Amino acid sequence: MGSSNGLAIAQGRQPLFSFGLISDVQYADIPDGRSFLGVPRYYRHSILVLQRAVKEWNAHQKHKFVINFGDIVDGYCPKDQSFDTVKKLADEFEIFEGPVYHIIGNHCLYNLPRSKLLPLLKIQSPECHAYYDFSPVPGYRFVVLDGYDISAIGWPQGHPKTLEALKFLQDKNPNVDKNSPTGLVGLERRFLMFNGAVGKEQMEWLDGVLQEATELKQKVVICCHLPLDPGASSKEALLWNYDEVMNLIHRYKCVKVCLAGHDHRGGYSVDSYGVHHRVLEAALECPPGTDAFGYVDVYDDRISLIGTGRIESTEMYFNAQADL
Ligand SMILES: [Zn+2]
Repeated sequence: MGSSNGLAIAQGRQPLFSFGLISDVQYADIPDGRSFLGVPRYYRHSILVLQRAVKEWNAHQKHKFVINFGDIVDGYCPKDQSFDTVKKLADEFEIFEGPVYHIIGNHCLYNLPRSKLLPLLKIQSPECHAYYDFSPVPGYRFVVLDGYDISAIGWPQGHPKTLEALKFLQDKNPNVDKNSPTGLVGLERRFLMFNGAVGKEQMEWLDGVLQEATELKQKVVICCHLPLDPGASSKEALLWNYDEVMNLIHRYKCVKVCLAGHDHRGGYSVDSYGVHHRVLEAALECPPGTDAFGYVDVYDDRISLIGTGRIESTEMYFNAQADL
C-alpha cells in the first residue's frame, strides 16, 4: 500500500471532494475481550476512537460526508442496552458537521431487528432495505450495498429472507454451528451465518444504478460491510454471492473502487478488471490510545485513502484502459 499523497501536492491539484471513513467500531460497555481467533478487542475504547475521528474530520473542514462501514455496536452488548447504545453511537457520528451515511453489519443485527435499527441510523426504507445510493458531485456516485439482504439474522423469524438464508446455509454448510467453517474448503469457507448475500431485487436495482451511472458518465464507488474480493479479505469474511455481484459490476466500466469492513485486519487488492478493493482495519481492535480511521481525497483519476493509526494509506489509481 502506498502511503504518499505527495504527488497530488507536487502537481498542485486539489481533490474534487473528500470524505471521512471508519469501520467496525463494535462498541459495548463491557470489559476487553478477544475474538474467536484470540485477537484482543477493546470494547470500551472504540467509542474514543470514533470521538477522535469525528473531531479530526471536523477540524479538517473539508469533508463532504462521512461513511460508517458497519458494526457500530458489538454482539456482546447486553440486549437491554442495545437501543440506547446504538443511539449513543449514532449521536457521536452526528457531531460530524455534515451528512453521515451508515452501513449495517452483522453485529448491528445481533442487537436490533431492522425495524428498530434502520431509523436510528437514518436509513429510510418502508421495506427495511439497507441499500441506497447518492451522488455527492455530478461525476461520482456512491452505491451502498446491503450485504445482509439475504441473511439468517436481522429479519423476523419465518420471514421469507430468513428462510431463504437458512436453506442456503443448510445446503452449503454441514456443521451444526453455522458459524463454523470446519470442513469447508477454500472459498466455501464464506458460507457462515455471520455473512449474507445480495438478493435478486437488490441485484436488479444495482444493475439499474450502474446503467444510469454509465449513461451519466459517473465513476462509482461501491460500499458494503462485507468484502467483495478474495484478494483483499479472508475467505471467511466474503459476501456469500460476491462472485455474482462482481460479475455484474464487471459488465460495466464505471465502478472504480469497492470499500468494505467486517474483516478486521484489513486488506487491499486490485482485481483482474482493474477494480480496487480496500477492506478497512477495525476501530475495535485499536489498543488504548491508538486509532483506526481515515479520509479519502477523490480525484478524477484516483482516490487517495489517508489513514490514521492502524488504517494504512492507499493510493488507488483508476485503470486508464477501463475508460476506453
Ligand atoms: Zn461484521
